[in-house]
Amino acid sequence: MEGRPAAPPAVTAADWARRDAAVVWHGFTQMAAYEGSTPVIVERGEGNYLYDTDGRRYLDAISSLWVVTLGHADPDLNRAALAQLERISHSTLLGNGNTAAITLAEALRDVVPVTGPHFLFASDGAAAVEQAIKIAFQYWHNLGVRGRTSYLALGDAYHGDSVGSLSVGDGGFGTDLFDPLRFGVLRTPGYDDPDWVSKAVAVLDEHHDRLAAAVVEPLVQGAAGMLVTDPDRVAAFAGAVQARGVPLVCDEVATGFGRTGAMFASQLCGIRPDLMCLGKGITGGYLPLSATVAASHIFEAFLGEDLGPRTFYHGHSYSGNALACAVAARHLELIVERGLIDRAVAAAERLGDALAPVAALPAVREVRRRGLMTGVELNPPAGASRWGRRVCAAAVSAGVLLRPLGDVVVVMPPLSITDDEIDTIARTLASAIEEVAAEDAEA
Ligand SMILES: *Cc1c(COP(=O)(O)O)cnc(C)c1O
Repeated sequence: MEGRPAAPPAVTAADWARRDAAVVWHGFTQMAAYEGSTPVIVERGEGNYLYDTDGRRYLDAISSLWVVTLGHADPDLNRAALAQLERISHSTLLGNGNTAAITLAEALRDVVPVTGPHFLFASDGAAAVEQAIKIAFQYWHNLGVRGRTSYLALGDAYHGDSVGSLSVGDGGFGTDLFDPLRFGVLRTPGYDDPDWVSKAVAVLDEHHDRLAAAVVEPLVQGAAGMLVTDPDRVAAFAGAVQARGVPLVCDEVATGFGRTGAMFASQLCGIRPDLMCLGKGITGGYLPLSATVAASHIFEAFLGEDLGPRTFYHGHSYSGNALACAVAARHLELIVERGLIDRAVAAAERLGDALAPVAALPAVREVRRRGLMTGVELNPPAGASRWGRRVCAAAVSAGVLLRPLGDVVVVMPPLSITDDEIDTIARTLASAIEEVAAEDAEA
């Protein structure tokens, strides 16, 4: 080894951030500012915590962007993944099957509020929505009905970033430049309008025979900044849609798998969608998997002769990925075995109590909650900039990983969050808000 230069110094988080910025393009992120924003570079996770390359620990208060349910590196989920890995990771679902996808679909059949469900798997929430949009479109075509080419969708909706899901989603989120690519939809107000249901019903009355489907995020419009509505309103909307023969698409990509205090938000509303989109928490945050769930009357409209025109000509390479499906099936069992839905309800109550002092701060406009989905809307003084960003940065340096949507700080911990950890999140958030408010008061 003589003559060789000394071993390079231990690689720090800053080194990793530099390497990162040189080669990785992060979504929804201004890369020119990325390195300077001291990103957390995760090396490993355990339970509700993430550890960076310097060994610092962060409480994952956003469930790694709303996907993690049981915590990180869960020993039971790890075992399920390893057992499947030994058998096979992937084989195509186009024209053939695999035991993991079948087992998962059977388990989901018993919990989804959809009648006679069939599951079309994909890998991302946006793809599940895209599939639902196309299925609804072809459903009418297969029935021989023409002219149902539009969709009813809500203001402030977010359904993903592919062009179709972007189209049923509302503008904003920096996506307005894509407007020329969006297909037109009938847009009625979102949850920030208390009359959103009656306004939607008025449009339904006039245009229902032009609609392929109506698309909704039941109870919580997450990406809009956790705008919430109540179950009765969602039920009234769903009833009005379905009474006019329009298929109801429930996008439960964010709300599914316990996040709202039930397995699915649709259940809290007492509704049964015709099409349902699942993603995010479906694998407990382990692997990319999503699914479009079709009720039997939708599915059956696609039955016909082999290679015939009723077939749904759509599919993804990784549809029904066996590794992801095996983890998702075990995840469903673990939610039940560990009583995590009840735990989510109790944790949500604790979170509400813990955030009461935060809600009382003058620098906070409103705290909106449904289950474990929480938005803390800040109240920045006129001329103040990037409050959401700065508050979250202060929380991160205090060891709680938060990420804002504009000036709304999202708090969405895993179902496995403990009472002590909830208190830590609330205390840290309160200090972070006070810190930023004090900076601006001095300036
Ligand atoms: C996150 C989200 C999506 C998109 O899911 P991706 O996996 O990010 O493509 C769709 N709908 C809702 C309601 C979401 O919150």
